[in-house]
Amino acid sequence: MAVQKEIPVEEKLHALFTLQQIDAKINEIKTIRGELPMEVRDLEDELEGLKTRIAHLEQDLADAEQVIANYKAAKKEAEAQVKKYEKQQDNVKNNREFDALSKEIEMAKLESQLNEKRAKDYVETVSAKQTALEEAQKNIKDKEKFLKTKKSELDNVISETESEEFELNEQANEARKSIEERLLMGYDKIRRNYKNGLAVVTIQRDACGGCFNRIPPQRQIEIRQHRKVILCEHCGRILVDESLAQ
Ligand SMILES: [Zn+2]
Repeated sequence: MAVQKEIPVEEKLHALFTLQQIDAKINEIKTIRGELPMEVRDLEDELEGLKTRIAHLEQDLADAEQVIANYKAAKKEAEAQVKKYEKQQDNVKNNREFDALSKEIEMAKLESQLNEKRAKDYVETVSAKQTALEEAQKNIKDKEKFLKTKKSELDNVISETESEEFELNEQANEARKSIEERLLMGYDKIRRNYKNGLAVVTIQRDACGGCFNRIPPQRQIEIRQHRKVILCEHCGRILVDESLAQ
């Protein structure tokens, strides 16, 4: 194997930092897109739930109307009976018959009142359900509108970022070519370890830009000299300074 010409550390660091910046952009795209499909899915689930709820409420209301109609019919029937018994009272032969009919009339009147009360109470239940239905219907309209917005947002993000992401991947592959395998492996390993995917970080306010632990002044000087690859002693990230950004 031919002896490879040693690449200056500064170049390596520069290449790593460039790669990190490209990868950060790719991450950003993935994050934006990663949340939108989930939001759209959640909204679709919510809408399904609302539709089921509305269907149930509509069924309940239809049933309730029938129940109220039944109570009203029972009330009318009782009233008719009252009239019937009162007519019969006009033709009674004795007091005993009259009294018996009076009792029947009393019962029928009670029955009529009871059914009237039942119908009234039920109307209150129905009105609560009616309100719930109206709320759900309004809610579904809002959600549908929101879903439409989110869906078009997602479509936009996908169409907007598809080519950008492709381009960035190309750039990342290109940048990787100028970094030796051993360093790349280290870089990828650190990236995998951290949720934000940052393996190369700058000095920020005298601290590591990854874990924010303080970097001693002497070490900061070494980092700025670009003579060796320096890792943060706390988080293991590769430390660089802003001058490598270009
Ligand atoms: Zn650190």
